[in-house]
Amino acid sequence: RKQPSRSKAKDADEDALPTLSSPTRVVYPDAGYTKQAVCDYYLSVADRLLPEISGRLLSIVRCPEGIDGQRFFQKHAGRGFGDAVHRHTIVESSGEEAGYFYVDSVAGLMQLVQMNTIEFHPWGSTVDALERPDRIVFDLDPDPGVPWTRVKQAAVEVRDRLEEVGLASYPKLTGGKGVHVVAPLAPKAEWEQVRVFCEAFADAMVRQAPKRFVATMSKAKREDRIFIDWLRNGRGATSVASWSLRARAGAPAAVPLTWDELASERKAARVTLADAGSRELPSLVEELVARQQTLPLQ
Ligand code: ATP
Ligand code: MN
Ligand code: MN
Repeated sequence: RKQPSRSKAKDADEDALPTLSSPTRVVYPDAGYTKQAVCDYYLSVADRLLPEISGRLLSIVRCPEGIDGQRFFQKHAGRGFGDAVHRHTIVESSGEEAGYFYVDSVAGLMQLVQMNTIEFHPWGSTVDALERPDRIVFDLDPDPGVPWTRVKQAAVEVRDRLEEVGLASYPKLTGGKGVHVVAPLAPKAEWEQVRVFCEAFADAMVRQAPKRFVATMSKAKREDRIFIDWLRNGRGATSVASWSLRARAGAPAAVPLTWDELASERKAARVTLADAGSRELPSLVEELVARQQTLPLQ
């Protein structure tokens, strides 16, 4: 039985890497990718994926029967989790306690992969400062008729308006139909302030171009418009991690881009398990994470 190639995971505690069960099971029937291929992919991007999800509470999508079978969205810690998947109890807005989980190592990542995790969706804060988000995400969701060039233009508009209030950002292909525009922050403001800022920002874009944008979830109002989904920026909300695979046909991956790369990107969800691993982390992303940006008026 073939096991994860451990040489790829340089900083792994080798003994903690789980044994991969059912490595030959087909996960992506259309592309023919097996669980072993998914495992190898995640090992190959662990150096880029871990900085994106380490210490962040996760919502995961598990597909034990492959992407065409039953899938499970899981955000609560469960039985059978490996010892490198850390349980973290938080108080929900309802006042109830709930056990969430996070990983911070290759071993933890691979334990989740062994549990048939395909998608990784982290919170916008880390457990060190759970109440102070360190990134905001504008999730651009186009109505099905909206052409890709307009989605790209919308992302540039979001970038330019964020620049006007002093926030630099980078774009991310989601592996789905849209783009996320991400602005890393210093963990200073609390969730409520960030949420208020993001809602006002999205509303202002809609006021300026009501024929092109909407900022409410209602699908009815969306015709031919792009929904600026600012709701990714609340406590407990998640957005797909860069380098996560998607449980969709073709094994697309979410990847961060430079703005120039986005401009020449021919379609959404072009990057897949086959080519995501060979992409480098754009230096823009590291620069912005290091910049410790703050919301205006703070
Ligand atoms: P696309 O580009 O196709 O819109 P996406 O990842 O942005 O891909 P959305 O449906 O817009 O998909 O959702 C945005 C984010 O919200 C997701 O990345 C995910 O983290 C979170 N999300 C949305 N719906 C769910 C859900 N039912 N369960 C868990 N997370 C969800
Ligand atoms: Mn989206
Ligand atoms: Mn959305």
